[in-house]
Amino acid sequence: MYARSEHNVSRSQISENALKVLYRLKKSGYEVYLVGGCVRDLLLGLEPKDFDVATNASPEEIRKVFRNCRIIGRRFRLAHVHFGREIIEVATFRSSESGNDNEQKVDTEGRLLRDNVFGSIEDDVWRRDFSVNALYYNIQDFSIVDYVGGMEDHTAGVIKLIGDPATRYREDPVRMIRAVRFAVKLGFSLDAATEQQIFAQAHLLKGIPAARLYDEVLKLFLSGKGLQTFEMLRHYNLFSILFPQADQCLNVEEDGFPKLFIIKALENSDSRIAERKSVTPYFLLSAFLWESVQALAKEKIKQGDEENFAYQNASSVVLSKQVKSVSIPKRMTQSMREVWLLQLRFDRRVGVRPYKLLMHPRFRAAYDFLLLRAETGGAETELAEWWTIFQDANEVEQKKMTRPARKNKNKAKAALKSKK
Ligand code: ATP
Ligand code: MG
Repeated sequence: MYARSEHNVSRSQISENALKVLYRLKKSGYEVYLVGGCVRDLLLGLEPKDFDVATNASPEEIRKVFRNCRIIGRRFRLAHVHFGREIIEVATFRSSESGNDNEQKVDTEGRLLRDNVFGSIEDDVWRRDFSVNALYYNIQDFSIVDYVGGMEDHTAGVIKLIGDPATRYREDPVRMIRAVRFAVKLGFSLDAATEQQIFAQAHLLKGIPAARLYDEVLKLFLSGKGLQTFEMLRHYNLFSILFPQADQCLNVEEDGFPKLFIIKALENSDSRIAERKSVTPYFLLSAFLWESVQALAKEKIKQGDEENFAYQNASSVVLSKQVKSVSIPKRMTQSMREVWLLQLRFDRRVGVRPYKLLMHPRFRAAYDFLLLRAETGGAETELAEWWTIFQDANEVEQKKMTRPARKNKNKAKAALKSKK
């Protein structure tokens, strides 16, 4: 246990709503703690994404304390306490002991299927993944309770699985990508055994339902350190399991362009996040799969397919393969298709077509995508520049730029020059 004076977590850093939940449960006579990512982040002076609470009150008992409370979850039953847009997640201490065979289920590969056995805080510690995620901030005396050496690991900057790494990854292979995510997010390194067992067990990630991986993948790449995460996932052979087609393209030795494209896309999205601009998952995901779509479409064109048709088909094939490992919601795949197919329309610069493209709801994303392609040699720089100028040009200039016939070529060039 670390007393109030031995750590730097203060109540002023904790969300008011989280404090309300802690105090109310305490007043009702329950044991209650902040736990997990928020304690870990507060110790580093980072602003937590959310505040998770652990208690010895059962979900029903929690509901009796709060009016604004809903019980959710099938695999794990949890209480969500709603305060406007903020939700405080309150979980009852769980045991991972397999004392009761009806409550804890492990499949033939040792994977946890269900664990809804309530327990004490000592039990709760052992079902958590990493020692730095198993620190409990006690509202009773403002101390931090640590059963697994989490504070020492935190100070040393080490991500370490609690218990035997091989077993813990087998129980839940998603812990492998979580290890990577936290290492990158916190700038920590992986403990030797925690790291070594990723190499040994990466393949187990294939058994995880594609639907569960979508959210994890978003957290991986939209954290603001997407590029670093990508490189670390590649290093541990995890990227190939999440995005097999993209990985295959990365391994093709061409002129180095495919690999650069994904890297540029990640760099681009990381710097947008740093500037607090919005990022959309479909932009990155379409960048990941672009090389695969193109390769397949080109093959189809060679076989005589019309270009648009070939790209549409290739998009469908690539997406349906992708959703076998990481599922992507329909509205996302729809936008990805649009970004891909709009790339073909940038070449048409005469008449009304450019105006129509400008009006397309996906124009902005498609244009950003075009810029990336141009930056990495996948499209003509001149083409990207044309669109940069065209969208900001006044009516007269736009008219000149889209005028048909040969003369147009020189005029467009002149327009380009005058802008530069
Ligand atoms: P962040 O919210 O910054 O992404 P976090 O540590 O809060 O990080 P969550 O996914 O919100 O991560 O999970 C909250 C806590 O639940 C974790 O800190 C960990 O103690 C526990 N946990 C989550 N997922 C797992 C898992 N797959 N195996 C074991 N424990 C887990
Ligand atoms: Mg969290």
